[in-house]
Amino acid sequence: MTHTDINVARETILSNNPLPEDDDPKLRPTRLDEMVGQRDVIERLKIAIDASRQRKDVLGHILFDGPPGLGKTTFAHCIPAELGVPVDFLSGPSLKAPKDLVPSLTNLRANQVLFIDEIHRIPKAVEEYLYTAMEDFRIDLILGEGMNARTHNFKLRPFTMIGATTRAGMLTGPLRDRFQLREHLDFYKLEELKEIVHRNARKLAVEITDDAANEISIRSRSTPRVANNRLRWVRDYAQSRADGKITLEVANAALKMAEIDELGLDRQDRKYLDTLIRVCLGGPTGIETIAATMNSSTDTLSDEVEPFLLRSELILRTPRGRVATAKGFAHMNMRIPENLKSQFDQRKLFADVDE
Ligand code: ADP
Repeated sequence: MTHTDINVARETILSNNPLPEDDDPKLRPTRLDEMVGQRDVIERLKIAIDASRQRKDVLGHILFDGPPGLGKTTFAHCIPAELGVPVDFLSGPSLKAPKDLVPSLTNLRANQVLFIDEIHRIPKAVEEYLYTAMEDFRIDLILGEGMNARTHNFKLRPFTMIGATTRAGMLTGPLRDRFQLREHLDFYKLEELKEIVHRNARKLAVEITDDAANEISIRSRSTPRVANNRLRWVRDYAQSRADGKITLEVANAALKMAEIDELGLDRQDRKYLDTLIRVCLGGPTGIETIAATMNSSTDTLSDEVEPFLLRSELILRTPRGRVATAKGFAHMNMRIPENLKSQFDQRKLFADVDE
């Protein structure tokens, strides 16, 4: 196959089966025991759920923090299922003013769960409105308008708030302190991801070999959502280009076509490394320069690209700018130029810190 052939084939498969977002309810665990990994978190939650059940009391508010795709929303599905109560889903950015919260709060059923995703993005006024709702199960409602407006103190049914955030540091102390349980979700081990891939292949009714599940897991950035996306793409490829079974060979070919390399980097990640290493000679380079060269935005790079490159130790974020590490050079098959070797002297890179 020539390069053009590969691109044409790729476009055909992509246009028939666009890479799906991970919104497949089929793959999401529905009970805590179905969840893979996060054993300590699950143990603590089970104790809290058990105790609240014995006391016939409402479960305390819970905050989950951690990078995207690690299971925060999944916990928000599983916990109400364990409690046998309904759940309402709200998203932080859609709550522009306290009035946006009122319908959900006033319609709560006793002991139900209210989930707010990206809770760090709610405005101050909404946050303050939540304080009494969370602490005393009360809110102030303004009835009437203008001169006739009156404040009515409305009693809510007891409920459990579950907040999820990718930026725990952006939460104010008063809001954070109103959550009785705070759980940080960590990245998944390779074995855990493999188990998720095997289980989800069964749910998708596709046959997969152990070495193929291993390869997909290695390239999934220690993140279940990424593993699900990779698995679905490989499944589509296996159906379209092979006999439907996912072998190591099929997985490798599918991931190569999707331009996902052996570390799990995608095209955008490699473009970043190429810009930093080939164009900017390894740095130190400001993120604005990298963004301008890549025709991208600094937000996209710092939120979506850099976290994985930093975690993989391919780049460093220094006071002088971004720097490619020796591993970054090696991954791009580039040799560190002799005259740049001294830049790997950490004292020089971080010299500004003490100033
Ligand atoms: P977040 O809310 O943290 O961004 P999600 O809870 O939406 O992440 O997780 C993304 C997907 O990953 C889910 O749909 C689910 O299929 C899968 N997933 C997440 N955590 C687990 C887990 N512990 N076990 C099995 N699958 C998981």
